Amino acid sequence: MQIVSKDKLIYSYSPNHAPVATVLPGEEFQVETHERFSRGEGLRDIATTKQDKVTAVTGPIQVEGARPGTFLRVDVEKIELTEDFGVILAIPGHGAFQDRIKTPSIKVVPFVKGTAQFSESIQIPLHPHVGRLATAPASGTWPTAAPGPFGGNMDNTHIREGSRVYLPVFVDGALLSLGDIHAAMGDGESNISGIETSGRVTLKCEIIEGLNITHPMVETAEEIMTTADAPTLDQAAEQALEAMRTFLEEKVGLTFNDACMLISVAANLRVCQIVNPTVGVKVILPKKVFPEGVFDFLGSWLAADTPRGASDATPRPRR
Ligand code: CA
Ligand code: CA
Repeated sequence: MQIVSKDKLIYSYSPNHAPVATVLPGEEFQVETHERFSRGEGLRDIATTKQDKVTAVTGPIQVEGARPGTFLRVDVEKIELTEDFGVILAIPGHGAFQDRIKTPSIKVVPFVKGTAQFSESIQIPLHPHVGRLATAPASGTWPTAAPGPFGGNMDNTHIREGSRVYLPVFVDGALLSLGDIHAAMGDGESNISGIETSGRVTLKCEIIEGLNITHPMVETAEEIMTTADAPTLDQAAEQALEAMRTFLEEKVGLTFNDACMLISVAANLRVCQIVNPTVGVKVILPKKVFPEGVFDFLGSWLAADTPRGASDATPRPRR
């Protein structure tokens, strides 16, 4: 299996980075991610440099056959934590508490029996997820701290083992990059930090043709979700809700009003993060509202050019 090592770092999302590895669709590969805080190098940096200089991503990885206009389905098969501890940061001027944080601090939390030891009496269950997962943008240079239409710093706690992430492809080879592994994080990442740590992620990519979604989507065994980022939570919520409504109307075949009603009664609107250059929201719909077995995988629904008839007991075959 190819392993992309953690010294293959980039500090921006850009179409101009040369690929450090090439994988085929369906090929399993591993990516190591590097968290400078884990080595204790980062505390001084957080007060003096931009965060992007501190947290890099690994890549980019070229996916053979990915072309602009296609979508990449990224299967996150396994997330292994490669350190036995993580760190939590507090940075003046950042996060919900802003300048009420007077001095930067860093808390090192050991991992013991599936939990992070926050203190002698407080233990946080580990829920590893991938904070940053991106294809390259069509043009320009984006900081790795930014979320965007290419994915990026989504900080979506649902991008965990077993998840599938749907990202648009803007350049030949897609140029996938990832990093910012969190051993755990609360939705919102309210004070700028998850439990930052290093990891090894096993992945597989597939290329999907014919999708017309406008925002990254995520699928787990139990749920499908639309995501969006925008300058405000209201705007991000509006965009993520609209993306889910469009999916339900165009791909599932619900009427406009039924789609709105289904979202209202069955989908959970949750925050991804409130601390990045734009803030993120997700709309999470449980698959169990649909007939069993309908979702072989979400990508086949997204690529279908006609509604799949979820209002029927069984889905119609694709034309
Ligand atoms: Ca992040
Ligand atoms: Ca982080």
